[in-house]
Amino acid sequence: MSKVSVLDSGFVELLDTFGDDLTVVNAARVSFNKESTEMTQKDEKLIKYLADHRHVTPFFHPQARLRLKMPIFVAREWFRHQIGFARNEVSRRYVDEEPEMYLPEVARSRDAKLKQGSKAEGVEENTRALSMIDDLNSRAKKSYLELLELGVAPEVARTILPQGMYTEFIETGSLAAYARLCQLRLDPSAQLEIRQYADAVRTLLLEKFPVSWGALCGV
Ligand SMILES: Cc1cc2nc3c(=O)[nH]c(=O)nc-3n(C[C@H](O)[C@H](O)[C@H](O)COP(=O)(O)OP(=O)(O)OC[C@H]3O[C@@H](n4cnc5c(N)ncnc54)[C@H](O)[C@@H]3O)c2cc1C
Repeated sequence: MSKVSVLDSGFVELLDTFGDDLTVVNAARVSFNKESTEMTQKDEKLIKYLADHRHVTPFFHPQARLRLKMPIFVAREWFRHQIGFARNEVSRRYVDEEPEMYLPEVARSRDAKLKQGSKAEGVEENTRALSMIDDLNSRAKKSYLELLELGVAPEVARTILPQGMYTEFIETGSLAAYARLCQLRLDPSAQLEIRQYADAVRTLLLEKFPVSWGALCGV
């Protein structure tokens, strides 16, 4: 599996990886000027030891390159994770295609017990709330296209597009950086939508780096 669908039309696609579990082992073994050529139980134990004792630098060596499509409001949170990542994003200064907007399945209600977050269930007038979101998205799209027709530059016309608009970017990160991001964003206190992206990353990286990912994050 190399691509996981997220939300209504987002995704996380694994484009490439550098290294594997053995890369972690050999980054650690160089301290003793030793090298393993295939994973053994001893190597698995070493990875677990490194993770448990927060010897994180060997986990900086394996890398993954992803293409992600997510709403702007999720990307704003995602991009707060900076150390160990490089990113390049589609530019709405150049691109003037019709924007795509995220429509939640449920207009989740506010949870009075939480300062942030939401309840799983929708508000009483769920259908009305969702159609308000959908309606605003359609109007924003229509006005955006009209502004372009008037000759307004894409970099100016984009100012009316909502936070639910999808963006796409390519991201390269170390295994350690993805583990940290996923630990923070898989937590129940993180917003549901970003948790779904973190879970997609977890699925893809667990497949490529099973021992290291298990040691860093559990599964
Ligand atoms: C549930 C949740 C709610 C959040 N709510 C908010 C919010 O309300 N408002 C808000 O602004 N942000 C919020 N954040 C974002 C949060 O503050 C972090 O910016 C984000 O989680 C990225 O953390 P990071 O450790 O991966 O950052 P990175 O910048 O990638 O840093 C990685 C690590 O490098 C080290 N590091 C980075 N910069 C420095 C530095 N300057 N000095 C020393 N060490 C450094 C730290 O060890 C850090 O953990 C929230 C995050 C979560 C998960």
